[in-house]
Formats: sequence, structure tokens, C-alpha cells
Amino acid sequence: MNKLKLVLDSSALIGGFLPEEDEYYTVSDVIDEVEDCQSKERLSYFLNSGKIKIKEPKKEIVDEVIKKTQKTGDQLSLTDIKIIALAVELDSPIISEDYGIQNVSSLINVKYKSIREPGIKKIINWEYYCMGCRKIYSNTRKTCQDCGSIIKRRPKK
Ligand SMILES: [Zn+2]
Repeated sequence: MNKLKLVLDSSALIGGFLPEEDEYYTVSDVIDEVEDCQSKERLSYFLNSGKIKIKEPKKEIVDEVIKKTQKTGDQLSLTDIKIIALAVELDSPIISEDYGIQNVSSLINVKYKSIREPGIKKIINWEYYCMGCRKIYSNTRKTCQDCGSIIKRRPKK
């Protein structure tokens, strides 16, 4: 039987993910995002034993994912984007606890799994609203241009 290829993001590793029989991949940036000693130690053990492999996604796929991310308004780090791009390249599911990654993944038909949460079921498009005057923005910003209050995000109906 062919082994399943799976892509891991930092939230899965921090969440205590343990590899099983499948093949696991991640990008090198994830190593910097895993900061607590226990997760770091576990990750370096799996990297050294070859259980988790490091692979960088192709640049053109990264660029493609960046474009799609801009449509949903999800705030993803470059690491998150690389993770998604790697999943596209390998045609593999992502294991992630991050709703932003899950959201963009479902938008571009990448499957994802969560190690503890049930995950989201539909694509969320975010909208940004002012906590003061309730003005709605389609893109994120720190403060409202009318009243200067803080901008929050919520799923668009
Ligand atoms: Zn305002």
C-alpha cells in the first residue's frame, strides 16, 4: 500500500502531533515557529530520523497561493502560505490547527485535517468592521479612517 503524504504546519507540531506510518512534510520556516522546548525537541527528533521531511514549495505555486489568499482576507504568514503551496505541489492534505490555513485550503481544494478540532466546514470570507462607528472595510486595517477606533474582523454573511 502506498503511504499517504501529509503536510504539517507549526500549529500541528505545537499541538502535539505524533507521526504514524505516513510520510510527512513541512517547510523549513516552520522550525523557527516552533518555540517551546518540548515541541522543538520532538520536531528535531522526527527530522533527524527522517520521519518528517523538509521540502520547499515551488515559487510559482507560492505566488498563486498568495493571490488566492488576498481574495479571502485571511491573514496568513509566508510560512503558512508555503505550507499550503507545498500541499498543492504534493497533492497532499495539510494537518493544521489554524483556521486561516484551513479556510484558504478549502478555497483552493486542498484537504486538511485537524489533530483535535473538528475544523471548519465552509469557506469563510472575512469582513472588517469598526468597533466605534461600525463602518465596514473589505480589507484589514488597524484603525478606522473615520473615527480612529479599532478594526475587528468577522465572517461575512
Ligand atoms: Zn469608525
